[in-house]
Amino acid sequence: ITQLYGPLNYFGSYYRQLQKNFVDMEKMLDLLAQEPEIRDLPRPAPINPAQMRGKVTFQNVVFSYDPRVPTLRGISFEIPAGKTVALVGSSGSGKSTILRLLFRFYDVQGGRILIDGVDIRYMAQSDLRGLIGVVPQDTVLFNDSIRYNIRYGRVTSSDQEVEEAARAAQIHDRIMGFPDKYETKVGERGTRLSGGEKQRVAIARTVLKNPVIAMYDEASSALDTATERMLQRELRSISKNKTTLIIAHRLSTIIHADMILVVHHGEIVERGSHEELLRNPQGVYHDMWEKQLRDNEIDLERASEMSSS
Ligand code: ATP
Repeated sequence: ITQLYGPLNYFGSYYRQLQKNFVDMEKMLDLLAQEPEIRDLPRPAPINPAQMRGKVTFQNVVFSYDPRVPTLRGISFEIPAGKTVALVGSSGSGKSTILRLLFRFYDVQGGRILIDGVDIRYMAQSDLRGLIGVVPQDTVLFNDSIRYNIRYGRVTSSDQEVEEAARAAQIHDRIMGFPDKYETKVGERGTRLSGGEKQRVAIARTVLKNPVIAMYDEASSALDTATERMLQRELRSISKNKTTLIIAHRLSTIIHADMILVVHHGEIVERGSHEELLRNPQGVYHDMWEKQLRDNEIDLERASEMSSS
């Protein structure tokens, strides 16, 4: 059964990936169309990356893509330097928008966003983006070697640094299994990597970039337990000593986050640690947790059905 299922699954995901890439392309064009609105000040605030600690502050941030539909309706939170905050909430609640605003893909329409007390609109965009590393859900790989793809995180890094980053992201062994090792061509026209492997490439890039702030958008697709555990370990490797923002779909990923923000219709409706949030049986988080526990049970049942058939 697995022999038959393997190739079918492979082509299925290939096709889905193609669809997704077209969607990504549209998004990219959207962004290109939007970006000219964002300009640097004639004399932006001088930023010395070595002196930035990475405290992130959102003060009553208001934003909408369409003036008729409010997307973020007064978002306030503060992440002390080096701490990890997780954003959870239903699809469309505004989690990705919060990350896009911190990266300044768009400007806020009300309130402000500060890093170490400096409004990000006063920073040069290149400085701001140099401070932030992003691990997106769908990592785009270049049609080039895997070494090139990882080095993209910091183009001046040595071969040895590239390999150390790959080790930290737990993808080194996989690469060494390819016939051409680090020279293996990847991307659309080369060896295809799975979603989890591509995300590990993005983690390796972020390890090389060593930003003050890391943003991690967890893949929403289901992962097997072993892969999920591995990703959690990698996540810890990038979030160490860094301010980290995670969009989590599986609550098991974020049990240890310093603070969890529950976003609902563009507002933060609950905040606290995992334990604190679970103490409120009427809470949204409590509800989400119970639901995921139930869903896992269903998956376990299904898995045992599959293995016994
Ligand atoms: P998900 O978990 O599905 O990724 P999310 O919580 O990250 O969802 P956002 O992507 O922040 O949600 O989207 C918030 C709202 O803004 C949604 O209603 C979405 O349809 C809308 N939206 C997002 N991006 C755009 C855009 N570029 N133009 C117009 N509307 C957008």
